[in-house]
Amino acid sequence: MKYAKKISMMPVYIGMGSNIGNREENLCTACKRIIAIRGIQMMRCSRFYETAPIGGPLQPMFLNAVLGIKTVISPHKLLEQFQGIEILMGRTRTVKWGPRTIDIDILIYGDKIVDDDRLKIPHSLMHTRLFVLEPFVEIAPNVVHPGLQKTILHLYRELQTSLSVTA
Ligand code: AMP
Repeated sequence: MKYAKKISMMPVYIGMGSNIGNREENLCTACKRIIAIRGIQMMRCSRFYETAPIGGPLQPMFLNAVLGIKTVISPHKLLEQFQGIEILMGRTRTVKWGPRTIDIDILIYGDKIVDDDRLKIPHSLMHTRLFVLEPFVEIAPNVVHPGLQKTILHLYRELQTSLSVTA
């Protein structure tokens, strides 16, 4: 007797940012395009947070959000899909950390760790960025960073403390 193979949906958290054009519309469009992909189910999207740019040239303020989805799509295929959306939405990669219509990063993919030339999951800088952790903590404070073995809430509080010490 044949059994249908059970495909498990992985919880994935995605960081999004925009600082060119209508930033709110850009985040909404990216969100809609992501959840329209076959094999993706929406869980929750955070509010939009206005944040100051870090690194790169002098540039406008960002609007950032974190989106939680469930998916059967592999990490590398997801990256390809997201890069397709970035290109469709007019993103060009000229200056490192420069202004962008839309930036879509895979922050966490279940408890998976990926570390190759194209992809690092968990995202290598996510625990150092308040503009990632603040919206992330709003929608999923208890998710555990599989590399650091700490919850998002823990990382958020740690970063807040270290930033207030250095301020
Ligand atoms: P950025 O300019 O910040 O969007 O960086 C894009 C580059 O980061 C791409 O070439 C990706 O292959 C690479 N990358 C590595 N890890 C990730 C990740 N977790 N999510 C998105 N892009 C990633």
